[in-house]
Amino acid sequence: MATTTLEHDVEVSEAKPSAVKYVYFFGGGKADGNGKMKDELGGKGAGLAEMTNAALPVPPGFTIQTEACREYMRRGSVSGEVDRQMEEALARLEKLQDQQLGIGSNPLLVSVRSGAKFSMPGMMDTILNLGLNDESVEALARRSNNPRFAYDSYRRLIQMFGNVVMDIGKSAFDEVFEGKKKQKKAKLDTDLDAAALKEVIAEYKKVVKKHAKRDFPQDPHQQLIMARDAVFRSWQNDRAKHYRRINNISDDLGTAVNVQAMVFGNLGETSGTGVGFTRNPATGAKEFYGEFLLNAQGEDVVSGVRTPVHILELEKIMPQVYNQLREITSRLEQHYRDMQDFEFTIQDGKLYMLQTRNGKRTGLAAVKVAIQMVEEGLISKEEAIFRVEPNQLYDFLVPRLDEKSVKVEVLATGLPASPGAAVGQIVFTADEAVEKAGHGAKKNPVILVRAETTPEDIHGMEVAAGILTSRGGMTSHAAVVTRGMGKCCVAGAGDIEVNEKGREMRVKGQTFKSGDWVSLDGTTGRVIKGKLSTMPPKADDPELMKLMGWAEPFRTLKVRANADIPRDAIQARAFGAEGIGLCRTEHMFFGEEKIPHMRAMILADNEKDRRAALKKLLPMQRNDFIGVFRAMDGFPVTIRTLDPPLHEFLPRREDLMVDIATFSTLDAKQKKALIAKYRDYGAKAAGDLKKLLPALLSRVEQLHEFNPMLGHRGCRLGITYPEITEMQARAIFEAAVAVAKDGVKVFPEVMIPLVATLKEMANQAAIVNRVAEEVFKEKERKVDYLVGTMIELPRAALVADEIAKEAQFFSFGTNDLTQTTFGFSRDDVNKVLPTYIAEGILKQDPFAVLDRDGVGQLVRMATERGRKTRPNLKVGICGEHGGEPSSVEFCHQVGLNYVSCSPFRVLTARLAAAQAAAGDKLKGEAGRTK
Ligand code: PEP
Ligand code: MG
Repeated sequence: MATTTLEHDVEVSEAKPSAVKYVYFFGGGKADGNGKMKDELGGKGAGLAEMTNAALPVPPGFTIQTEACREYMRRGSVSGEVDRQMEEALARLEKLQDQQLGIGSNPLLVSVRSGAKFSMPGMMDTILNLGLNDESVEALARRSNNPRFAYDSYRRLIQMFGNVVMDIGKSAFDEVFEGKKKQKKAKLDTDLDAAALKEVIAEYKKVVKKHAKRDFPQDPHQQLIMARDAVFRSWQNDRAKHYRRINNISDDLGTAVNVQAMVFGNLGETSGTGVGFTRNPATGAKEFYGEFLLNAQGEDVVSGVRTPVHILELEKIMPQVYNQLREITSRLEQHYRDMQDFEFTIQDGKLYMLQTRNGKRTGLAAVKVAIQMVEEGLISKEEAIFRVEPNQLYDFLVPRLDEKSVKVEVLATGLPASPGAAVGQIVFTADEAVEKAGHGAKKNPVILVRAETTPEDIHGMEVAAGILTSRGGMTSHAAVVTRGMGKCCVAGAGDIEVNEKGREMRVKGQTFKSGDWVSLDGTTGRVIKGKLSTMPPKADDPELMKLMGWAEPFRTLKVRANADIPRDAIQARAFGAEGIGLCRTEHMFFGEEKIPHMRAMILADNEKDRRAALKKLLPMQRNDFIGVFRAMDGFPVTIRTLDPPLHEFLPRREDLMVDIATFSTLDAKQKKALIAKYRDYGAKAAGDLKKLLPALLSRVEQLHEFNPMLGHRGCRLGITYPEITEMQARAIFEAAVAVAKDGVKVFPEVMIPLVATLKEMANQAAIVNRVAEEVFKEKERKVDYLVGTMIELPRAALVADEIAKEAQFFSFGTNDLTQTTFGFSRDDVNKVLPTYIAEGILKQDPFAVLDRDGVGQLVRMATERGRKTRPNLKVGICGEHGGEPSSVEFCHQVGLNYVSCSPFRVLTARLAAAQAAAGDKLKGEAGRTK
């Protein structure tokens, strides 16, 4: 195991048992807290304490712990004890710095920043330059010998304070600032001189007075209290709540507040500020990576307002500082044994570290860095397994642009901020993205184009296929957030001029408007004109294989795929699927040549006609099964008998009524179109339609159900029309025997859907077993098979011991089981879900993440009851949850045999299952943690 050069004996000051220690000081080479105290100090505060203890150059300050925020949320204010401890820490800081907050010829100025346990980039608020007022600004001007810098700092404080603390819209300040620039004919912000900035300050103060009905507070202590409380409040802002919801962070944690002596990166050409990573967060390459800006303050880099330069440039400009930074950051990496994401400021040639934390990275980078670190002896292979979030493996599966057969016109090249490819229609605002992106079957890919994104764009970014910005670097908001989302992003494409108000972008002399198509390559940073197609990626990356090779031996859950056609089965197998857990046979009927027969079967109002149609379907089904069995040679294939409501295959009742009513008014061309529309139902000429349409309508009306999801579907179909189950069973066994004769190892598992009672199960199992015997006799060959059921109804879970008398396996259909347990329609739940989540009634979408407390109990109970009857009962899950990491972990805990998910989630499920098992194993071994 790696040793570290940064270890220090950390002294944690003991709080008296009765008094809560709210404030933790750091400075002068010693901190009250340490790096392990993320719960109390937040990630940032813990990092500052740890760096201080390691004698790194960190500006001193103190952290007000998260308990104070929780108190603020509970009571609407903090206790007097928090104020007292804060004043005490401030006095200590003033003594250490030999300065006073906002007073004297060398006033102390501080930053006030949020910092929660989990990083929430840009979601909460920050105030810089606190302590400035009408007097201290003059002192700062004299002391820095740079009045412009002093007034600029003061106007930034009023602006930030006004916005964050006093709730005044940013635009009120922007108007003043832009107005001044216009008046002074200044092109850039920096063109405004000290005198102009003084005027801006005077006007800003008026803005504050007008909107907040009070003056900008001149008392630095009052400023501090107000800023602290505003940061606590920002924990509850919409952006932060939204971010926590997406990232599954608890609302109860609260944020810490870090108050720290200011250092200035904007004191001139020997000052600057930057951010960086110890390795490349996009690719994982072991290279010093980051960006910085000379003569700038922190938010200029992170907000992406100015495009920074590569960190390697620092070596040319300030070689000593660069070497010191390299040395410190490699020590930090060794110490934390993970890639670091750091922030620094250089004030007058002196380096200060402002933050370090484990860096966010793409899935590609996560795998590469984990492997490098094992090879470097920094972490063990077991630890490496946990360095990759299972969902991140999706990055290996992201598509690439297909450029072979088309002319590619590159409009601009920006930064490859987040890999993959995205093709979509341009939108210019987050709201427009939400409006046009649609959902479900009406999903429409959109590319959100912005000059730069801000945390306010988060809802648009979530629905967009990709993000393009004209400003900002690899650590800009757009870049960081999209990498976290695993979404393609090109950032800082400076040649593109984005006019958000006018809803257009200009590049290379061309204008693009809302709705125009563009293609993004997030791996190279190219922006390409038009709608390219995308190509599937390669999932056999050697490094991915290596990491999976370390993880897989731990795994005890099998992973299968949900696949209905041979192509998907082949794909699933390439991703490592160990069988098919769900083949939805109704999906097989959607093919062009099959659907007319399927429709004929449904329309038949007697058994003879139905059997005739089924006879036509039999060879087609058989062929599909042959393809799937071959692809899964050696693995089990679970085939579900017909499940969906039949009306899904028929025209809508309302459409038919309109077509009947308007038929006589149609011209020849329109009639031709109508014939084409109903060709699958047997229409060949206009004359046919006259009889066909009313007959269709009458059958559709017969089939109409008020609640089809609870209607004539699942095993109820096979029970009312046994000939359907017969045909399907025949197709399955004929296919199985045929491939077995060719030497394919085939294990069919016939699965009966939506069973609620033992007798339903027995009814269908009898048909399947009878047909199996018939086929085996006819073909003179047998194959092993099982007949089992899906558990999709609470009743089935309750009587699982009964059902297991007939069912040889169970597979939890957790889509329906969630629907029937909650009584939420799975197709309409989005009408209530956002409110439920916003109100904290539900923490997550139960259709995405298995509801352990409710649905999970049924899963556990049914498994136990089923196995009481049949100890070797095979149990799996095939709802959408089968590919979701936390649900997979639950399935492991309950002792299922397998999970089954869509082919593209197989890798994720494999890693999640391995992590769950490895977690168990390592927990049991003394002295080892994940
Ligand atoms: C389920 O209900 O979880 C399931 C897999 O079946 P379907 O989604 O086809 O209803
Ligand atoms: Mg179902």
